[in-house]
Amino acid sequence: MSASPLMPVYSPSPADFTEGRGMEVFTRDGTRYLDFIAGIATNALGHCHPKLVAALTEQAGKIWHMSNMYQTGLQRELAQKYVDATFADVVFFANSGTEAIEACLKLTRKYHSANGNPHKIDILGFEGAFHGRSYGAINAAANPKYLEGFGPALPGYQQLPWGDHEALKAAITDTTAGIIIEPVQGEGGVRALPVECLHGLRALCDEAGILLIFDEVQSGASRTGKLFAHQWSGITPDVMAAAKGIGGGFPMGACLATEKAASGMKVGVHGSTFGGNPLAMAVGNAVFDEISTPEFLQHVNDMANHLGQALEGLKDRHPGVVIDVRGKGLLRGIGLNQDPLPLRKKCFDRGLLVGNAGGNVLRLAPPLIVDQEHISEAIGVIDAVLGEAAAQAHAA
Ligand SMILES: *Cc1c(COP(=O)(O)O)cnc(C)c1O
Repeated sequence: MSASPLMPVYSPSPADFTEGRGMEVFTRDGTRYLDFIAGIATNALGHCHPKLVAALTEQAGKIWHMSNMYQTGLQRELAQKYVDATFADVVFFANSGTEAIEACLKLTRKYHSANGNPHKIDILGFEGAFHGRSYGAINAAANPKYLEGFGPALPGYQQLPWGDHEALKAAITDTTAGIIIEPVQGEGGVRALPVECLHGLRALCDEAGILLIFDEVQSGASRTGKLFAHQWSGITPDVMAAAKGIGGGFPMGACLATEKAASGMKVGVHGSTFGGNPLAMAVGNAVFDEISTPEFLQHVNDMANHLGQALEGLKDRHPGVVIDVRGKGLLRGIGLNQDPLPLRKKCFDRGLLVGNAGGNVLRLAPPLIVDQEHISEAIGVIDAVLGEAAAQAHAA
């Protein structure tokens, strides 16, 4: 018999976390940790934000679930907020990032078939991408590690080198339907796509008459100091997936699209039992109202500057361990010359929660309510851990 009744697809830390307040979380025995990963960029407003607790508990006493056969008004309200704040004309609500991606992929193929081009089915993605764990999502990202053992890869997906404009241009054919990309790659190594590349992508898609799909599941929800990361560039996608932070910790995803891109999405074409359910929508509305104000975005940008400078300082102090610092806003990575996992563990032992990402990267994605003192505390811990790693390398 195995030791745990859980399917062993994760390797979580041994202690149970039972409470969270703002930037801090506590295990059952009361041990405190400073949270610099926020459930992987998900608890945008930290833990148990009073406005989110109020929104959720108030809604819990009203109505929980109705199915999309009926309206509650809450979906329309939240969709209108995202429409007013972005390129999108319409929104479909899902429960997770991978479901939002699934909707984006289906919408893209449907757009072409509904417009007389059913042969346009190919979606071009990029090396290092992560779009979630559904069949569509693992095929769109085409990471061999996540496809292995799940039978033949689905037709209609191709993976290209990251940041190679010429290779991408050459890969676009008459059967191409769209391009999917994260404006800031999360899992793949916290790599921010240069603004010029976003402009290049838009131009390529316009020329070829194909859809540009942004995966802002991790980079959205004000994480980079704009509501969505692509808004730094001035160009917009045709379709976009959002999730993680937009629910502030409550499961929720969204597929946002222009009216034109969504022209094939008619009654019965797509759906979800729980997508847009009243509990998620009540929290989603409360999250949006907090994270979208100019003052909040200013705070994120201020904190991003502090964090960015502090990370540059770490790089200067530990040249033997830190290769580079990357990312954007409050989604940051420290590129290391070694496996980040032992360092992540050492941070944990010193009371700091951080993540890791592909390519030997330590990932930082604190709740957006982080302040300067939290940043100093976290940097102090990472500084000490990097110092130990350097000393070990020296001794070896
Ligand atoms: C987390 C993530 C997803 C998948 O979201 P789930 O809610 O885990 O399904 C998709 N894309 C990106 C960029 C992500 O970071």
